[in-house]
Amino acid sequence: MMQQYQDAKAVCPDALLLFRMGDFYELFFEDAKTAARAVGLTLTSRDKGDNPVPMAGFPHHQLDSYLGKLIQLGFRVAVCEQIEDPRQAKGLVRREVTRVVTRGTVTDDGLLDPRESNYLAAIATSAHARDAGLAWVELSTGRFFCTTVSMERLSDELARIQPVECLTEEQSPAPPANFGDSWLVTERPKWAFSYETAVQSLAEHFSTVGLQGLGFEEDRDAAAIRAAGAIFDYLKETQKSSLDHIDRLVPHRVGNQLEIDEASRRSLELTRTIRDGNRDGSLVAVLDRTVTPMGSRLLTEWLGSPLTNIDEIAARLDAVDELFGEPTMSVELASQLTSTYDLERLVSRIITGRAGPRDLGCVGRTLSRLPKIKAKLTGRTSALLKNLEVELDLCPETRIHIEEALIDECPLSAREGGFIREGYNNDLDGLRNLAAGGKQWIARYQSEQVASAGIPNLKVGYNKVFGYYIEVTNAQRDKVPANYIRKQTLKNAERYITPELKEYEEKVLAADEKAIDLEYDLFLRLRDAVCASARRLQATSAVIAQLDVLLGLADLARSRNYCRPVLTESSTLHIVDSRHPVLDILEPQGTFVANDAVMEDGELIQIITGPNMAGKSTYIRQVALLTIMAQLGSFVPARKAVIGVADRVFARVGASDELSRGQSTFMVEMTETARILNTATQRSLVILDEIGRGTSTYDGISLAWAIIEYIHDQIGCRTFFATHYHELTDLDRTLNSVTNLNVTVKEWDDKIVFLHKIVAGAADKSYGIHVARLAGVPPEVNERAKDILAQLESEHLDENGRPKIAREKLGGSRGGLQLSLFGFAEHPILDEIRDKDVNAMTPLDALQLLQHWRTQLAREEQPQPR
Ligand code: ADP
Ligand code: MG
Repeated sequence: MMQQYQDAKAVCPDALLLFRMGDFYELFFEDAKTAARAVGLTLTSRDKGDNPVPMAGFPHHQLDSYLGKLIQLGFRVAVCEQIEDPRQAKGLVRREVTRVVTRGTVTDDGLLDPRESNYLAAIATSAHARDAGLAWVELSTGRFFCTTVSMERLSDELARIQPVECLTEEQSPAPPANFGDSWLVTERPKWAFSYETAVQSLAEHFSTVGLQGLGFEEDRDAAAIRAAGAIFDYLKETQKSSLDHIDRLVPHRVGNQLEIDEASRRSLELTRTIRDGNRDGSLVAVLDRTVTPMGSRLLTEWLGSPLTNIDEIAARLDAVDELFGEPTMSVELASQLTSTYDLERLVSRIITGRAGPRDLGCVGRTLSRLPKIKAKLTGRTSALLKNLEVELDLCPETRIHIEEALIDECPLSAREGGFIREGYNNDLDGLRNLAAGGKQWIARYQSEQVASAGIPNLKVGYNKVFGYYIEVTNAQRDKVPANYIRKQTLKNAERYITPELKEYEEKVLAADEKAIDLEYDLFLRLRDAVCASARRLQATSAVIAQLDVLLGLADLARSRNYCRPVLTESSTLHIVDSRHPVLDILEPQGTFVANDAVMEDGELIQIITGPNMAGKSTYIRQVALLTIMAQLGSFVPARKAVIGVADRVFARVGASDELSRGQSTFMVEMTETARILNTATQRSLVILDEIGRGTSTYDGISLAWAIIEYIHDQIGCRTFFATHYHELTDLDRTLNSVTNLNVTVKEWDDKIVFLHKIVAGAADKSYGIHVARLAGVPPEVNERAKDILAQLESEHLDENGRPKIAREKLGGSRGGLQLSLFGFAEHPILDEIRDKDVNAMTPLDALQLLQHWRTQLAREEQPQPR
């Protein structure tokens, strides 16, 4: 057996091998030690003696639970099963690795979160190339995509897709920053990424000649194809079952989508919180009021890529609006959806041959809800809902077939029978009657024997080894008739058989067995029939998903009092009484303070100042979140909202504000900021939170100052900048489109009360010293701090009370103004230069004049005698 073990291990050396032995799965050698440590199995040993083999295991029915734990911890796990019936095996039972499971390749329902997609991705890079190929597949639904992205955008795409496992080429160029943060990285050999292999295996799988048929071209899509090929190769290696449900490779082309880069997604907490990485507390958790797993996954997708096309957004909003206005119908629709099952994953299981009777039963039940859903959808006015109504395919033949064939509560497995409905198949009914009739006969037989032998407690029983038997207690042994044949002796009783009993036993058992075999056959035929309409079922599941998302958004809008946003092509922003979607729900009812976010034409940059904890970060994030919500087709938490469509949303947080990442992140902060400055366009929306904080104050202020000027002059996009650098509020004196806002604070009896209300104007002071006093810092320190502050502030203004760093607000050329910064704008030499007629001078004159000025300047720079 250990030889068998070694053979199995050789198939997948880098996976933990779960070796089935009787009722247990066992691990041996290093695997046993690793698993014992990782999931707390008891480590024992086999062959105690000179060479004990470390061993650990668990009962077979706990497979799912341990498999789940191990893959969550990032292990690859191979399952080696007994592939023949031990009772029929001659010698050693044959065993084989039936599957290798990793985070990206699980399909077991129990191991998947129904609300989330479980993507396996692959990255194909090549040295010096500017582009990378990216492919991703969800094995549980068969969705398979690929694309080519620039190296800079790679991590953004990965952040959007959120794979759980990522394949990379061994010795490939350095992966993007933050790589491997949240997903398992699996290195694959170089050949697995070869273009030729990819084309060959993909073309073979999709039965096409080459890849043009799938819409790919060699020069443009080579990297994407290599990534897709690597995925396919990996699936073939790990999955021993069919991959037929992967029936398309969809080229993902970035088009009309709101781009949100990785850092912004993280910082805005779209799908996970920064603090603990949980879904709870993120935007998606608020938006998700779906009632089906398909809907939940689709919503995450919508949130991953909101739209930029106003008509497409309006189509979704129209649908949400209509459902919003019809609460009763919406509630009824939602309750119909609640009792549907995960059709998308069910269909995949059917195609891959993993579906059991219960799965088919769930498809049937889901289909049985559809007529009511369709009826509710008829007569809708919005184009999207009308369209969904048309596309909702009831698949009536499939439904009837399933309903006729299966009983209401089906078992998981098709092997034990008992799930085909009576009346579905004559042969089956016949066999069942025979089996049931036999059992009746045995009951009658028992009472006959009791009477004829005169043994009142005589029993006819059954066990696997002896079949049917007659049991007589020792006390009654004398009365046993002569025709009884003794078969077994127990402590208090004897067991007998008779020829009639054996005859009927055979009939019953044979009938039972035949019935079970026939049921299995009928089941396979039913599954094939359902499989034939897989495409239609998938289309229907897509309709359910969309309807579910739209209903959820309408429900949210209704219950949280949202309004329908108006989207425009200009870069307007006019949101009245807006609330932060997450805090609005978390804060006690009604205590969240609503704020206006208004940027009229000509306004571009808002600088928000105010003390710590005043609500600056909340306010600026809110603007970004509402924009994203609006563009994915949701209503927004506000009284009124006019939002100019953004092409990109950026959100950055200054380094020290993002402590949880636990690294010196000033470099990260600046790299990310550089990306904004390099990629934002006039249509983008930029949220900068305490940028410049990760370095010394003067450095920080200078950088922040220059960044705002750059955005103002070179990019011209809507920007919200929250800062505690009070100095930055001077920017409004020099830049046309900058406005100052601050968060109001009341000083009252030595206390600061946060009003969380955003108002026009710069904060009048930073309150840092004030807060220090509240915190119990000694009065001497406070007094001294005030002195220093006064001094610093006086140095910060020139003699006219103008900020020294600020440039004059003039627009146009600033050449001369820079001179004024150094204080010699009005130097007499300048006048002389202006007055000189250069054409009337000889070269010698010019040289002499130059020499004269030099002497004059040198004299001025010398310390003056007292
Ligand atoms: P800042 O960035 O100014 O330091 P935050 O935006 O982080 O402040 O807000 C601090 C806390 O104040 C938040 O966690 C929230 O609990 C509360 N808060 C912020 N804005 C509001 C608001 N508009 N209404 C009610 N509470 C708010
Ligand atoms: Mg803040």
